[in-house]
Amino acid sequence: MKTDIRDIGEFGLIEQIKKQFARHQSPSTIKGIGDDAAVIASDKTILISTDMLLENIHFDLTYTTLQYLGYKAVAVNISDIAAMNGKATQITTNIGISNRFSLESVQALYEGIKQACDTYKVDLIGGDTTSSKAGLVISVTVVGEIEKHKITYRSGAKKNNIICVTGDLGAAYMGLHILNREKVAFLANPHTQPDISAHTYIVQRQLKPEARVDIIHDLSTLGIVPTSMIDISDGLASELLHICNQSGVGVRIYEEHIPIANNTLEAAVLFQIEPITAALNGGEDYELLFTIDQKDYEKVKKHADIRFIGYITENTDAFLVSKENQYVPIQAQGWKHF
Ligand code: ADP
Ligand code: MG
Repeated sequence: MKTDIRDIGEFGLIEQIKKQFARHQSPSTIKGIGDDAAVIASDKTILISTDMLLENIHFDLTYTTLQYLGYKAVAVNISDIAAMNGKATQITTNIGISNRFSLESVQALYEGIKQACDTYKVDLIGGDTTSSKAGLVISVTVVGEIEKHKITYRSGAKKNNIICVTGDLGAAYMGLHILNREKVAFLANPHTQPDISAHTYIVQRQLKPEARVDIIHDLSTLGIVPTSMIDISDGLASELLHICNQSGVGVRIYEEHIPIANNTLEAAVLFQIEPITAALNGGEDYELLFTIDQKDYEKVKKHADIRFIGYITENTDAFLVSKENQYVPIQAQGWKHF
């Protein structure tokens, strides 16, 4: 069923969104959708981050569903708050929709947004709705809170700190390769059925990434404040260089310690891509990269989902030590295997 949005109008649409998000989960939300501004009250320090997603630049609706897209748009913003060591509490959503989008498709988008709000316990407290002539536009702004002494910048890494990464890397990038392969096959022959059954893990990592709020919780429980942190949206190499530049330090990481899932390895073989290249330059993993003081290592060394990939150096060189014990300079882009 396809209902024209004009049938219920902008106000009708906002009314539906308001109803769907009426129940609030953050104690700091005083007033959500429905007035000229939302109201938040908190005695903590406030974090704000925003991200804009444009159709055919940041997402392709032939790969993904609107529901996944809504979920991902929220999750990647939550990840930015996590990367400051904070807790996300509210979001706002701005959407630009062209008349090719039905009411049902906007509802699917907000269904995904709702799912993410429930997963991460954040409230949708406002937004704006406009028409667009060039495809779908979604912009999410997230508000978070943090105790001042726990704020973790990219700039705090110190000599001899241990470099940690969560989860595994390169999966979302290989998932995108699978989706792209299926798109090409579909365009060549619309009667083919997509075959992603052998690659569900990496495809899911691309379509429905999760923010590592669990790690922020665990670090807090363990009594650890990282010295620096960033979320891995553009690939490990690029994020390491951000930490180096902003902290005025260098890094040495070891290829053998970089976590790569078996499904990622299999897909890398399929597409003749070096797995380490997918991990270093792939992007969209939304894992956390952080550094800790050596004194904190004992507390965290048994964590099942944190890997220790190297250490911070005083000189500002960034090197990967390969499995063959070669020193390879880390570059943000165009990184080539030796
Ligand atoms: P105004 O004219 O004051 O900007 P709007 O009619 O745009 O008011 O919005 C009315 C209410 O609905 C506000 O609380 C606004 O934050 C909220 N709102 C509008 N569009 C959206 C949206 N796409 N998602 C969430 N909330 C929205
Ligand atoms: Mg408005």
